[in-house]
Amino acid sequence: CGIVGYVGARSSVDVLMGGLRRLEYRGYDSAGVAIIGAEGELATAKRAGKLKVLADALEQQPLEAGGTGIGHTRWATHGGPTDANAHPHLADEGRLALIHNGIIENFSELKQELLDEGFAFASETDTEVAAVLLGREVRRTGDLRAAFRATVQQLEGAFTLLAVHRDEPGLVVGARRNSPLVLGLGEGENFLGSDVAAFVEFTKRAVAIGQDQIVELTADEVRVTDFEGSPVEVEPFEVAWDA
Ligand code: GLU
Repeated sequence: CGIVGYVGARSSVDVLMGGLRRLEYRGYDSAGVAIIGAEGELATAKRAGKLKVLADALEQQPLEAGGTGIGHTRWATHGGPTDANAHPHLADEGRLALIHNGIIENFSELKQELLDEGFAFASETDTEVAAVLLGREVRRTGDLRAAFRATVQQLEGAFTLLAVHRDEPGLVVGARRNSPLVLGLGEGENFLGSDVAAFVEFTKRAVAIGQDQIVELTADEVRVTDFEGSPVEVEPFEVAWDA
């Protein structure tokens, strides 16, 4: 399972698919991407099976080559390896997309609470609960960053999470607990990955995101905080690796 995120001027589909290929060694059963296009629309493609199946689907029906995107390979834990259970999962009426590696231990209580409030689900995954919760918090706060903080504070278990929202077309938010996340620092572009393999071809300056930290990523800026939003100082390192 693997995670890639990108904000910058390149074709994000290409960056994401390349990154996911470099993370293939981690194992997976499904794959998917979400891209915010030039017009600010959010588009996703996801398929059970190998990356080749997703690549073929993208060839048949290309996504607009936006500069902001997230990509995922899934190792199913909750819900079988189907197209519907593949990530990204959508919420806020299709305006936000979220991907996740790990297991959300308290998903059934959260799901019941959301069902009681009238929210609907399209998959059997624990992950979709985080997506729907984030959608609810976006409605409540009107701000993706604040909503993301409020969401991760409610989750238990292991997660690397990335999310994008069409109202914030140049922003990727990510968080991690008991699951890895590395930031890649570029010039006018920034990257996220489960490990440096995801982006080492583009930059060798990296930051290991710490336990229970959030990262907010635009093309020109990165901000790392704890789950409450207090800034955390980061120490970039050079990846010793010839891509
Ligand atoms: N628990 C999530 C699922 O089953 C994520 C699995 C993963 O780490 O890829 O969809």
